[in-house]
Amino acid sequence: MVRMENKLKKTKKTFENELLQIPLTKKELKNLLNYRIPCLCCGKEMLHPDIYMNLMEKKELSGKADDAIKILEPFENIMHPVERQVFNMLKSLSAKYPDKNFKELLEIKKDIHELALVKIQSSIFNKVSFYRRILPKKMARQLRKLMIKTNDIIFDPEPHKPFSRRIFIYKLKNIIRNLESKTIKEEIIKIARRLPRSSDEVCAFVVKNARKRPEVIALNLIHSSVGTFEHLTPKCMLGLSNSLNFALECSYCNNSRHHYPIPVQIEENPDMPRNAQLQTDKLIALCKKGICNKEYIENLREVLYWLSDRYINLDISKLYLT
Ligand SMILES: [Zn+2]
Repeated sequence: MVRMENKLKKTKKTFENELLQIPLTKKELKNLLNYRIPCLCCGKEMLHPDIYMNLMEKKELSGKADDAIKILEPFENIMHPVERQVFNMLKSLSAKYPDKNFKELLEIKKDIHELALVKIQSSIFNKVSFYRRILPKKMARQLRKLMIKTNDIIFDPEPHKPFSRRIFIYKLKNIIRNLESKTIKEEIIKIARRLPRSSDEVCAFVVKNARKRPEVIALNLIHSSVGTFEHLTPKCMLGLSNSLNFALECSYCNNSRHHYPIPVQIEENPDMPRNAQLQTDKLIALCKKGICNKEYIENLREVLYWLSDRYINLDISKLYLT
């Protein structure tokens, strides 16, 4: 049965590929990342994945912080804001403790950042818990259970499993999915979304990374900036794996989208339509130099328009100016 399904999938793909010309090969698309392309979703400049792969080979990243810093310094300008702040913190710590590596330096700061993180988290959980007063009885009971479990995790200094923001929001959404009032539903989720991610709070980054090896910490400082192919229609929904369905996105945005539809991604990243335009303008400029092609941009416009429920309406008129 599975084999049959795979066969069908394959046939469907071959058929579509023959029907539509693929505008850019994967190699050509990847090559665009050599030209400081902004991420489709967050608009931050992306790093070519080969440069990242080369960094993975550098043994110095696991050694003394000072040696690792020298290797990472050329990438400081493309680090995402939290990563850059942590990098600067590591730089000043390394001056104070020249013999320590990245892990040892983060461990010095871990406790204080963990407290700061729990403070932010618990104030948000309090706000979420307030809704027990308003929700129908059954939902209120489920919410109470979730909050007890969650508090057990965050107030335990050595939890069995670390707290996951993503799973918490998923469970919360599940509890209130049948709530009649859309406004209250949105209010609750909006509050929960304020829970810090390691990409938006230094304390969350430090807590998450203090458990990792020094070279992993070093790579995590730039990992979010690495350029990737985002499947616009997710793979699990039979999205094609070629440039008709690929957009260039930083690894952070790609990972945080999972397989959610693009309108949900826009909800979490309200600037996405503007950033998609920034990327398109850059691609058009590259097109004029013969590095990108017209068909890729036209297809991207079309696909984003429909998949985003028309939220992303790219202006590609410059493409036709001579
Ligand atoms: Zn991004």
